[in-house]
Amino acid sequence: MDYTLITGAAGFIGSHVAKKLLEQGHAVVAIDNLNDYYPVKNKRRNLLALQSFANFQLIEGDLAEQSCVDKLFSDFSIKYIGHLAARAGVRPSIADPRLYERANIQGTLNLLDAARRSNKVANFILTSSSSVYGNSTQVPFNEQDAATDRPISPYAATKKATELLGYTFHHLYGLNINVVRPFTVYGPCGRPDMAPWLFLESALKGKPINKFGDGSSRRDYTYIDDFVSGFISALERPLGYQIFNLGNSQTVSLNEAIDIIERIAGKKLAIVQLEAQPGDVNITYADVSNARTKLGYNPNTSFEEGMKKFHQWFIENEI
Ligand code: NAD
Repeated sequence: MDYTLITGAAGFIGSHVAKKLLEQGHAVVAIDNLNDYYPVKNKRRNLLALQSFANFQLIEGDLAEQSCVDKLFSDFSIKYIGHLAARAGVRPSIADPRLYERANIQGTLNLLDAARRSNKVANFILTSSSSVYGNSTQVPFNEQDAATDRPISPYAATKKATELLGYTFHHLYGLNINVVRPFTVYGPCGRPDMAPWLFLESALKGKPINKFGDGSSRRDYTYIDDFVSGFISALERPLGYQIFNLGNSQTVSLNEAIDIIERIAGKKLAIVQLEAQPGDVNITYADVSNARTKLGYNPNTSFEEGMKKFHQWFIENEI
């Protein structure tokens, strides 16, 4: 049986992608090291939704261990790869850059190398990040025109490095690689270290929340279902080597996001005002025309609509 390998399937985005593929009838093998970057119980909860499918297999292992990746490829016939595993998060990468280098660069390199040696992989989706655009002022960010050679955090630098390694493996071995660059993805099962979760939780629980900068910074927030549809389209289309922004192509300022969250939660946030953080960018804003043309990508969930769904999930799951 041919499998789709989803790395990082216990995480936020990986669990959604794996679930969608399983619902479509694909056999999925997942690898995740269930690290404690955020509570492991959240990852176990994400996995529960996958473990009810008969054609789902989970390997608990570390992509940075070559032997672990090699065993995966000898035990399963892997035809498609959705590579989502990574150490995510900008600020912690400044504190521990080596951890990020190992998981993100070494892990991706091991996977690329195993994929090319197997000779069976039809398509490889490599998940990069909008953070590769750094503080580029050329908005909206276009994959061809905006500079990505000035990353401003170790995390962003590791993501750029994986894009370059991907190109090299495409060039040398003909691997089909679609790079996707997510823009602040949020929604049910979201990451508890990201602003949409932190602000919603603090509104609901009345906990104080740190606000970095004056609130004018802008983010292109992408609802999880929109992102997953783009990711799966990329998985279905071997196109040589391509790079796709997967954003919403709408920006929301931090102050606007706070107003929307307060309205949805029906509560005021207890804000602790702090200086802007090193490594944080001023704006992210995706030009998604390449993804629209080549993947049929069509994000259509506004931040307000998406946050209402996220809020509903918070209530149902008693977060
Ligand atoms: P997440 O932390 O929820 O998921 C990542 C998963 O990868 C985790 O379950 C983790 O345990 C696993 N993992 C990490 N290192 C591993 C290793 N060495 N071996 C095996 N498993 C490992 O993060 P997410 O938000 O779901 O992000 C998924 C991908 O999308 C990541 O590559 C991230 O960098 C990228 N991304 C996400 C966003 C976003 O807004 N969520 C934005 C830009 C890029």
